[in-house]
Amino acid sequence: MSFEDCGLPTKMLTNLADRGFARPSSVQVQSVPAGLSGRDMIISAETGSGKTAGFLIPILSHAYGLSQSSAATTQGPYALVLTPTRELAMQIEQVAKDIVQGMPNMRTALLVGGQAMASQAHRLSQNIQIAIATPGRFIDILAKHTDITFSNVFCLVLDEVDVMFSLGFGRQVKKILDILPNPPHGRQSIVCSATISKQIQWLVEKHMENPLRIRI
Ligand code: AMP
Repeated sequence: MSFEDCGLPTKMLTNLADRGFARPSSVQVQSVPAGLSGRDMIISAETGSGKTAGFLIPILSHAYGLSQSSAATTQGPYALVLTPTRELAMQIEQVAKDIVQGMPNMRTALLVGGQAMASQAHRLSQNIQIAIATPGRFIDILAKHTDITFSNVFCLVLDEVDVMFSLGFGRQVKKILDILPNPPHGRQSIVCSATISKQIQWLVEKHMENPLRIRI
């Protein structure tokens, strides 16, 4: 399989080639087509496997397709990625920016501590496709900026969810899952986790539908 076979936007294909992504990595061979089909996924893959682009490519391809359609009047981000640390969030945002570089209307927002919340909330109101957040900051924004719409989050990624639980963010993750509104036609969920503990199994059963299990 090649990236061309997946029907990705032409500019995205050029961006991937420019970054030396000549062919999909093992995880991407599975995650890109499944992600494009809207399937829920549980990805257990090491850092270095290309899992970040593995979940971002299908999400950003979908978001681009929607943003180009005439019905592109939805508010709030199309996708939300939750990740345990500020550094990881910044890395994920950079990969996302590289993938959509030069594509019109493809904007990212970073929602992490240590930076002014007001400016992050302001950016969220500006036709954002994907928000990348740490759980604590995301909950603060949900609580304080009730004017921001999250009912169009069609795709939710819980990256390194095992690390989020081991760092004690489990309660915050569960809270976010409980209060995030369900979009009209359901939400695609992608969980990345090296191990599947009981807590994660519970989360999978409660919030995912027939997920594809990818183990690399
Ligand atoms: P990750 O596992 O997501 O942390 O990615 C590890 C590294 O692999 C990053 O530096 C990516 O830029 C790179 N990478 C991801 N996908 C590919 C690909 N298909 N071809 C070449 N390099 C890749």
